[in-house]
Amino acid sequence: MSNSPADSPSLEDAPILHVDLDAFFASVEILDDPSLRGRPVCVGGAAERGVIASASYEARRHGVTSAMPSVVARRLCPDLIILPGRFDRYEEYSHRFHSVVNDLTPEYEPLGLDEVFADLRSLRRLGVRPLEAAWELRRRIQGELVLECGVGLGRNKLFAKLASKQSKPHVVDHVLVPGTGVVWVSRGLEDQWMAELPVRALWGVGPATAKKLHQLGLRWVRDLVKVDENTLSRHLGSAMAATLVAYARGDDERMVVTNRELKSLGHDQTFGVSLTSLDEVLDHCRHHAGVVARALRAQGRVARTLSVVLRFDDLESLSRSQTLPFGVDDESALTAVAQALVRSVNLSRPVRLLGLYASSFLERADNQVQLSFDVAVQGDDRLEAISRSRDHQVSSASLRDALDDIRRRYGENSVGVASDLASQGLRIERQRGSHAFGPEGPS
Ligand SMILES: [Mg+2]
Repeated sequence: MSNSPADSPSLEDAPILHVDLDAFFASVEILDDPSLRGRPVCVGGAAERGVIASASYEARRHGVTSAMPSVVARRLCPDLIILPGRFDRYEEYSHRFHSVVNDLTPEYEPLGLDEVFADLRSLRRLGVRPLEAAWELRRRIQGELVLECGVGLGRNKLFAKLASKQSKPHVVDHVLVPGTGVVWVSRGLEDQWMAELPVRALWGVGPATAKKLHQLGLRWVRDLVKVDENTLSRHLGSAMAATLVAYARGDDERMVVTNRELKSLGHDQTFGVSLTSLDEVLDHCRHHAGVVARALRAQGRVARTLSVVLRFDDLESLSRSQTLPFGVDDESALTAVAQALVRSVNLSRPVRLLGLYASSFLERADNQVQLSFDVAVQGDDRLEAISRSRDHQVSSASLRDALDDIRRRYGENSVGVASDLASQGLRIERQRGSHAFGPEGPS
């Protein structure tokens, strides 16, 4: 790791940049209400079973962290201010953040609201050097958004993300140690740097996986380098084992998938014989959901927004979408949402095309901090213990809410008849192109 301009890396050495806004939700709240400055502020669920989503550094000085149950956070910091969160506002800031990154390069990939990967190789002909680009990006985010951030540079996504984490302020014995702002991992130091990291620092290693690794005596990345992959497979499954062994060696093949390519991922099918019954359409929803779920998992992503597009025999099209408070990548969740959306549509005309699209992506490993706040956790203050059950509980509760929301917004129309259409005032979007959302996908 180095920050010295003297050994500034070339684009070949450090082509990938990762930038992560500091304490994003909490920082936006403090910006909007300066009286909160210097106070321990969190965004999260204030209710008994709430969870902290974002903690200011003042709160972190007291040991409060994101994903911590709010009861525990309050115990650590009795003066803690827990705000409910305003996602519209965070999305506004996120949009501004992305446009600053876009000025640097359009070759960027957003992760959630407050993180972005960028591939700097497109800047080669401009003679841009990675460290200069990183400092300039940071300066603009500080100046224009008045938010702090950490920037990491590395030869792949793995190192860039580890480096940005390293660049951030951190707390030692209740004292806040300022971050360096920008960090890059130089090739010569990569092995040494990785060896000293705990396994938990690796992408995709949540508390449950970390616990399994600890039980196998694997605490540090250096332990993982020595382990036999087949042994690891038996405990973690072959996909996870292969990924971890690769990461431990510093190998990460993932590309930066640009915003343009990312906006939606979906599957549609035009039927040889148009579908005339609800059951047929629901069956195809399940099939589409399977295809989309596999594509999401293959990319290590989860999607918050699901959209269904139907085109009828008269070539009229209609789309419906639902955004969830968390990302999903499993077939049953996708099926449930897709089917609820389909049930909200009047299907009195034969269906010629059915499409299911996923958008608003998060990296799967980042999904757990994007949870809805007031979730049912066990009345237990051990984070490790709840984290395994929490994902599932949050997912099912939020999924139920989302399905209710679809019914509330659209009603159940699928068994109606053609004459009901006008009287129910359904929104019908006429389409020209073959893609229901136009070339950019759903926005
Ligand atoms: Mg952040």
